[in-house]
Amino acid sequence: MARGKLIYEGKAKILYEGPEAGTLVQYFKDDATAFNAEKKEVIDGKGALNNRLSEYFMNGLMQIGVPTHFIKRLNMREQLIRQVEIIPLEVIVRNTAAGSISKRLGIEEGTQLPRPIVEFSYKDDALGDPLVPEEYIIAFGWASQQDLDDMIALALRVNDFMSGVMLGVGIKLVDFKIEIGRVWEGEFQRLIIADEISPDSCRLWDMETGEKLDKDVFRRDLGNLADAYTEVARRLGVLPSNAPQPGKPTLVN
Ligand code: C5P
Repeated sequence: MARGKLIYEGKAKILYEGPEAGTLVQYFKDDATAFNAEKKEVIDGKGALNNRLSEYFMNGLMQIGVPTHFIKRLNMREQLIRQVEIIPLEVIVRNTAAGSISKRLGIEEGTQLPRPIVEFSYKDDALGDPLVPEEYIIAFGWASQQDLDDMIALALRVNDFMSGVMLGVGIKLVDFKIEIGRVWEGEFQRLIIADEISPDSCRLWDMETGEKLDKDVFRRDLGNLADAYTEVARRLGVLPSNAPQPGKPTLVN
């Protein structure tokens, strides 16, 4: 499918105009970034893996009635999506303490939280995506109280779905981030899951060994990121046939 003009380039994805009004083509890059892009690397195969994994999760969500922007995968690196008006918030759900909550509150990583916790960060790279209370979100008009209630309900449904899917393949869903967009149907707006759901935006730990199978492998220099994502894809049965295989010898000139 011929791509339209470039609409937006982010750290890990590019959005192009889609073939019809109201659609976009989402292209998954191999670039990995962390710490607000202070750490950067190109990881062969990451884009293709995230394209497949996000397709898998979004399709599953749609099957249980959670609306998403996903329409169909086009090829190894691209998917057709609905155009949405992105709400400028990162919606984070945590089941187990890790990362910033551990740092902020001094809770040891791996501690089970009393219940899933939903939190919001304001999407602004220059500010480092600061954590914001609901009061700010409403006062600054980023979302209404009704939007917030809907976002929390959506996030918790995604959490239940993703936790179950991962449990089935021996992986603990520690936490994850989603983005949510508005679509207009006549006069009415609806909130749907947008962006991507992949090991770039989740923490995934092997239930037996605690091995990390997510972007922390890159953030914390714990090994090969593509191998970790390949393992997640392999367990879920969504390995793209020409993705790099773990342990495959690399030709060095
Ligand atoms: O860093 P922190 O512990 O707040 O991250 C919580 C979860 O949200 C992690 O799964 C992380 O990968 C994800 N996240 C993200 N993009 C960000 C910030 C966090 O995908 N900008």
